[in-house]
Amino acid sequence: SSSTMVIIGGDAAGMSAASKIRRECPDTHVIVFEKGEHISYSACGMPYWIGGVVDSDRRLLVLTVDAARKRRGIDVRTHHEVVAIDPVRREVTVRQLGDGTSFQQPYDLLLIATGASPARPPIPGLDLPGVFTLRSLSHAQQIYHFLESRQPRRAVIIGGGYIGLEMAEAFRDRELEVTVVEMLPQILPNFDPEMVEEVAAHVQQQGVTIHTGTRVTAIQQDNPGLAVVTEEAGTLPADLVLVATGVRPNGELARQAGLRMGQTGAIWVDDHMRTSDEHIYAAGDCVEHYHLVLEENAWIPLATSANKGGRVAGENMAGGDARFPGILGTAVVKVFDYTVAVTGVTEQAARASGKFGEQGEWVGSAVITNDDKAGYWPGAEPLKVKLVFDRRDGRVLGGQLAGKAGVNKRIDIVATAITARMTVADVGMLDLSYAPPYSHPYDPVQICANVAL
Ligand code: FAD
Repeated sequence: SSSTMVIIGGDAAGMSAASKIRRECPDTHVIVFEKGEHISYSACGMPYWIGGVVDSDRRLLVLTVDAARKRRGIDVRTHHEVVAIDPVRREVTVRQLGDGTSFQQPYDLLLIATGASPARPPIPGLDLPGVFTLRSLSHAQQIYHFLESRQPRRAVIIGGGYIGLEMAEAFRDRELEVTVVEMLPQILPNFDPEMVEEVAAHVQQQGVTIHTGTRVTAIQQDNPGLAVVTEEAGTLPADLVLVATGVRPNGELARQAGLRMGQTGAIWVDDHMRTSDEHIYAAGDCVEHYHLVLEENAWIPLATSANKGGRVAGENMAGGDARFPGILGTAVVKVFDYTVAVTGVTEQAARASGKFGEQGEWVGSAVITNDDKAGYWPGAEPLKVKLVFDRRDGRVLGGQLAGKAGVNKRIDIVATAITARMTVADVGMLDLSYAPPYSHPYDPVQICANVAL
């Protein structure tokens, strides 16, 4: 008889695995339990639908339930929530959200791809109407319909990370007044401070008020709207509040099943995406990954590693021998006319890690600002590049870029260099491309590397 693979969660990691298993082993019965309404949607695209860049939410659906069933032969069950895993009997308990009934589903192999959920800061008022989080397509639809039906004028965004800033742009595109409140001293807290200065000024020029170092203590009803109460910036009136204060891994099912949890609080997996139980795999935002620079596990929830980790898990569940090599946390964000990007470790993170000298004394860094293309080329704009390296051997540990063009691919030069364990000298001599509309004989990343030398 054919084997049964059960997958919990039908988004990036879960559906990557399901598709891979079906391709490798067409006889296998693959069941995906998804508690929500949608599968395989691009969460990353949601701010652009809300802001009007993308004209329909249907464009964000990479794979519909119908197509997954008919074209890929995946037994997708939406509105089905897995509420328990029994690793001894090898079965899961599933609740049908329609009628509330439950049943047991046995498995030969199980994949946990439950993702992450928005963190809820400990403040009163999070459940008031007009207060939103953004994680699933259903959340995006709620925000969209609120914008359409209520015509709110003022949005307050709690959290100045990348989702908060992408949504600040979306709300400005819809002509709302926008205020961003960030508890830490800077927006984009996973960048070094000097990489964010111009970006923050630019965001403010776009009509967004930013309050950094500001803690929200409550959200209150203030008819007809809402009031966001802060310690440092007084009370901010709002018609819509978006809570974008980060996410937490959905590891509860794994923890209750007695699986090993990692130091970060996410699920521990080996380099084959297998948990501490040989019949259970896990992938995506619910797991921690090996960090190639820190050489220990880290939790950096991104679509990139969710897709790859899901595929590796699927290949191994289908009997293969695929390895997930590790992550650098490479990320790029559009912030109005700017693009910012990061890979590896920031200088702050490298120093704090204790891996490069107790006080971080082996952490070196270089920052340059140069034209992003030949200075005489019309429309050349300043580009800021930072490289972080190990002073002992010159090995590149991290990179950050901020500018208006050419940021996204240049960060990938740095990511590739770190993966190949290159030194700043190696980067300075890479044979990269040049013509005046694009770059310089030494690319700005190489100019930075040569300053670091
Ligand atoms: P999820 O997408 O969280 O999917 C998990 C699924 O499991 C969910 O559908 C959930 O309903 C289901 N589930 C959970 N528990 C159960 C259960 N017990 N039973 C049944 N089903 C369950 N990443 C990038 O790399 N680049 C970007 O530009 C980017 N932009 C983003 C923008 C926004 C607004 C958001 C919210 C995220 C963004 N991300 C981005 C992050 C990216 O969306 C996630 O890393 C990715 O979705 C993770 O995929 P996943 O499959 O691990 O988890």
